Amino acid sequence: MVELQIAARGIHNQRVLAAMLEIPRHLFIPPPYDRAAYEDNPLSIGSGQTISQPYMVAKMTELLALTPQSRVLEIGTGSGYQAAVLAELAADVVSVERFSHLAEAARQTLEALEYGNVTVVVGDGSLGWPERAPYDGIIVTAAAPALPPSLRSQLAPGGRLVCPVGSRDLQQLKVLVRGPEDRFAEHDSIRCMFVPLVGREGWSA
Ligand code: SAH
Repeated sequence: MVELQIAARGIHNQRVLAAMLEIPRHLFIPPPYDRAAYEDNPLSIGSGQTISQPYMVAKMTELLALTPQSRVLEIGTGSGYQAAVLAELAADVVSVERFSHLAEAARQTLEALEYGNVTVVVGDGSLGWPERAPYDGIIVTAAAPALPPSLRSQLAPGGRLVCPVGSRDLQQLKVLVRGPEDRFAEHDSIRCMFVPLVGREGWSA
């Protein structure tokens, strides 16, 4: 998976590749789909939600440019797989999920794998998680109609927000960097397709 789907497509960040080699992705996916855990596509995890394609996880993680000191916020815990990748690369991860049963399943998987630096919480992640702000990296793994202002405001200086923005069917990955003196720089990365971010600063349903 790492060699053929990720490195071959131009992801060269060694820390990202090493983390994804380490993590048993099949443990994050309920049967019967776990048999397809290392294939080149997103997979169903129930409740109409999906675990992203491995390449997309790698690409978004690389765009965050994490260091071992980074504090990270993830919106859309889903299976918990992306949270595990973040936990390998950063100091501390908070992950917000709107469905409590998905949050609970992800918590159990992450605990079984001894990721002590991830906290999974239930709530509307379109509003971020102000209690632990600011964050050096914020990653949204659901599609937003526009960059949520709350997430922007919870970025630390030098911090990066990676978020799919567009219609419900097709989005562009946006990267927002908070520079000095509150100057923000934004650029577009690849096209993508995520399930909708449903919440106050996302889609209404
Ligand atoms: N990162 C996940 C995949 C996420 S799928 C993984 O590695 O498996 C998108 C997730 O976002 C779904 O679980 C969905 O329930 C969740 N979601 C959608 N809107 C949300 C919101 N406003 N707050 C928190 N989670 C949300």
